[in-house]
Amino acid sequence: MIPVNFAYCRPGTPEEAVQAYEGYEKAGKKTWYYGGGSEIISMARVGSITPEAVVDLKEIPACCELKEEGGHINMGGALSLRAIADSQCFPLLGKAVGRIADHTNQCRITLGGNLCGTIIYREAVLPLLLAEAQVSLQGPSGVRRLPLQEVFDGRMQLLPGEFILKVHVPKRYASMPYFHVKKAPTEKIDYPAVSLAAIIEKGRLRIAFAGICTYPFRSKEMEEALNDTGMTIEQRLNKAVELLPEEPADDAHCSRGYRQLLFENMVGQALMELSKASEAGAGA
Ligand SMILES: Cc1cc2nc3c(=O)[nH]c(=O)nc-3n(C[C@H](O)[C@H](O)[C@H](O)COP(=O)(O)OP(=O)(O)OC[C@H]3O[C@@H](n4cnc5c(N)ncnc54)[C@H](O)[C@@H]3O)c2cc1C
Repeated sequence: MIPVNFAYCRPGTPEEAVQAYEGYEKAGKKTWYYGGGSEIISMARVGSITPEAVVDLKEIPACCELKEEGGHINMGGALSLRAIADSQCFPLLGKAVGRIADHTNQCRITLGGNLCGTIIYREAVLPLLLAEAQVSLQGPSGVRRLPLQEVFDGRMQLLPGEFILKVHVPKRYASMPYFHVKKAPTEKIDYPAVSLAAIIEKGRLRIAFAGICTYPFRSKEMEEALNDTGMTIEQRLNKAVELLPEEPADDAHCSRGYRQLLFENMVGQALMELSKASEAGAGA
């Protein structure tokens, strides 16, 4: 049970959502945009947040859209992870979100919620960073569409009152060879110790991670090193560890040493996939 009363509204257009959000905020109510609600409800139940108003985005058609248009796959911010996985519209994204939580929770958790939540893994972002996705953000000044990597720096950097209306993935990335592996410390369904997503484009590896550090990232410097065939595999792996943006995370979930071991192992597997793809002439 949530021990406080809060206002709830379910607008039908993006503009109404922003108006409602601003209206509640002006009335002094601490307001949240609401996707699947799994995080908001769990945090409100234990008292770590006290929402005074929520604006549910699921009635907005654009937020639930999943269609191809102008060379892009457009995905609404309120689409469930399960709808994305089932659609097979972008197989690597389907694989990544199909490993988040269990089937029941995937039917509830939304793309926007995963990208904007407080839980540090945000695994849906990995394929999106690799595929040069763009985001349409709806806010008080209208819609701005920009590359995801400009507004994602470990977490989404949204302006006050903004929400994710849509994510746009260039269609060509959906058919490139890919590799995904997620290792959790104990159960298959758990937060990742390390999660890795990779795409092979024109014989080059693009790679992104969650779990190894305290935020998800794609590192172009690390990609340079991993694609450097002038180095041995061992040298490339050592370089990848050196180029981590921070020391591997160390917490009750998983130790630093074990995370690093998994990281090296998983990156080694990705390099093997790269060499198999090169031999087969895939991703050319
Ligand atoms: C059982 C379980 C297991 C999980 N395992 C994993 C895992 O392995 N890996 C992983 O990455 N995550 C995992 N999660 C975390 C989950 O992805 C996040 O908690 C996510 O925030 C939940 O999405 P939601 O749609 O329910 O979010 P909500 O509770 O609706 O919202 C969460 C936050 O996102 C904001 N938000 C929601 N939609 C939008 C939008 N369109 N635009 C802007 N802001 C928005 C809300 O304001 C709020 O701050 C797990 C969660 C559960 C319940």
